[in-house]
Amino acid sequence: VRTKPHLNIGTMGHVDHGKTTLTAAITKVLAEQGGTNRYVAFDRIDRAPEEVERGITINIAHVEYETPTRHYAHVDMPGHADYVKNMITGAAQLDGAVLVVSAQDGAMPQTREHVVLARRIGVEHLVVALNKADLANDEDLLDLVELEVRELLTRYGFDGDAVPVVRVSGLRALAGDPRWTQRILDLLAAVDEHVPIPPRRLDLPFLMPIENVLTITGRGTVVTGAVEQGTLAVGDAVEVVGLGPSVSTVATGLETFGKPMERAEAGDNAAVLLRGVKRGEVRRGQVVCLPGSVSPHTRFRAEVHVLSTAEGGRHTPFAANYRPQFHFRTSDVVGVVALAEGVAVVRPGERATLTVELGQPVPMSPGLGFAMREGRLTVAAGTVSEVLG
Ligand code: GDP
Repeated sequence: VRTKPHLNIGTMGHVDHGKTTLTAAITKVLAEQGGTNRYVAFDRIDRAPEEVERGITINIAHVEYETPTRHYAHVDMPGHADYVKNMITGAAQLDGAVLVVSAQDGAMPQTREHVVLARRIGVEHLVVALNKADLANDEDLLDLVELEVRELLTRYGFDGDAVPVVRVSGLRALAGDPRWTQRILDLLAAVDEHVPIPPRRLDLPFLMPIENVLTITGRGTVVTGAVEQGTLAVGDAVEVVGLGPSVSTVATGLETFGKPMERAEAGDNAAVLLRGVKRGEVRRGQVVCLPGSVSPHTRFRAEVHVLSTAEGGRHTPFAANYRPQFHFRTSDVVGVVALAEGVAVVRPGERATLTVELGQPVPMSPGLGFAMREGRLTVAAGTVSEVLG
């Protein structure tokens, strides 16, 4: 039974600015306040043995906690290499985010990159944790960094003046220092207040991108993810679509954070048991949906913002026939790019209209956001403007 509204949030920010420490501090502080919370091994439990053997790290830790007024699922995405990739998939589902900025270092390239992506992927509400404030023996320095962060947010389309900036020390709060414990509570109060409860798209057909596929011995194949829209009840027919032949089946079980539930709805983190489906038949990047409600496509037109070098993007322009990876929801598909007539190259920092042919079909419709990546670089963030085929 849900007693409090549920929201999905997460930490973002430059590596080493303290995201993981802050996440741990939040759970610890709330535990001491008597709220229920725990680390949830949602993505860690029941990892298929072959994945463990191959050493795949999904690198997303879900944590669940409650403030006096709300229930949060919080994703922390530690690690550097695949951070943005994870952020794209996680961020697509975030109702808000805590941008962690080290007071010592200020905004760094990954800070900008995450802010750009957050904006493009539709994370509209940010709260800034000005972290490592314990290291600043000078309030003027903190003021300066705060000003810089506000300017950065404004430049990328957030209301930089209105975004709450809370000076915290994840490390000191984790050590139990009362002054810094209070700052964590202040940060959470700012999230409660500043991140609105999003309108859940409950009336649309059910859709959940698959984040992870698990095998539960004796029960079958389970797919996990955050429900993007609609509702699903135990016993409902579903279709798994994208990246290849679709699979029709029935959802025979539903769980959230290890607890069984009768219905999953938009905004929930869910695990869906699929009747009679073998592990190899479904995979990350596909979507689970109401049968017949979505169709996968390979050709589309899009508007993209090509990241500048300072935003973590490329140093050099790209031309027609460029082949980056395209990340839609949890999928990662190669595509070849065509440029608008008369355009020879697209430079870092520019906006462009592209026509893209994907190597595999992806469920999409106009308005869907995606990221273009090349190796570990985020090249561009874009939105589908027209589906072509
Ligand atoms: P992440 O990469 O953003 O997740 O950063 P981590 O949480 O792993 O922290 C990076 C380093 O900064 C670690 O050595 C932490 O102990 C340290 N750190 C994190 N938060 C604080 C803080 O509030 N104050 C101080 N002094 N150090 C911190």
